[in-house]
Amino acid sequence: MARKFFVGGNYKMNPATKSAADGLVKILNEAQVKGDVDIVVAPPALYLLPIRDALKTQHVQIAAQNCYVKDSGAFTGEISPAQLVDAGIPYVILGHSERRTIFHESSEFIAQKTRAALDKGLTIILCVGETLEEREAGKTTAVVQAQLEPVVKLLKESEWNKIVIAYEPVWAIGTGKVATSQQAQDTQAELRAWLGKAVSKKVADETRIIYGGSVTAASCRELASQPDVDGFLVGGASLKPEFVDICNAQA
Ligand code: PGA
Repeated sequence: MARKFFVGGNYKMNPATKSAADGLVKILNEAQVKGDVDIVVAPPALYLLPIRDALKTQHVQIAAQNCYVKDSGAFTGEISPAQLVDAGIPYVILGHSERRTIFHESSEFIAQKTRAALDKGLTIILCVGETLEEREAGKTTAVVQAQLEPVVKLLKESEWNKIVIAYEPVWAIGTGKVATSQQAQDTQAELRAWLGKAVSKKVADETRIIYGGSVTAASCRELASQPDVDGFLVGGASLKPEFVDICNAQA
């Protein structure tokens, strides 16, 4: 089965002003999207609804950058999956390395969040990836598998169609050091093979595994030509007009 190309734009804690956010919407509204691609942008929580409402294109959907596990209650600073669904936000990014590292989120906690988000009907962009030290020690596969194992335990086979896995080597995020297309392909092929054993062949064949880490218009086409690279999660370049070129990487 052909996996539909998927490009996410992770705005992180950007842009700094609402007027700059309006500029990003303009780029998306004027984008010439070619080919069959799911495009999802993830603005900061404050801009989720204004950006969603200002988008005039059918091509782009919205993701939150995080959510909590409960529906509501005394959890200062958090957003619940139930609130996202009620607001009409269909996607959430979970397990980004910045959440894992800066905010100390464990793989078990991320798995619980994934479970809670699925229970409410969200689609999850689930991030995994190794540090440079782990790669150099030959531990990439083990690290990525260990990050996914708690999720595998909490999901039914039929729920994997609501998961997009983003392989994001930590050493490539925001560093300008993009993984080579061979590194991305090798790791993502291994991840897919592992999914085949840990879940099922169907899930391995159908789950989109996208690459993230310093993707630009210059690097996206070669990466996109790899058989196990089903799209991208883009940080810095999602704040620039070249994001549209990345969305068209496979067209
Ligand atoms: P980057 O970020 O494209 O700026 O490296 C990717 C990400 O963190 O999702």
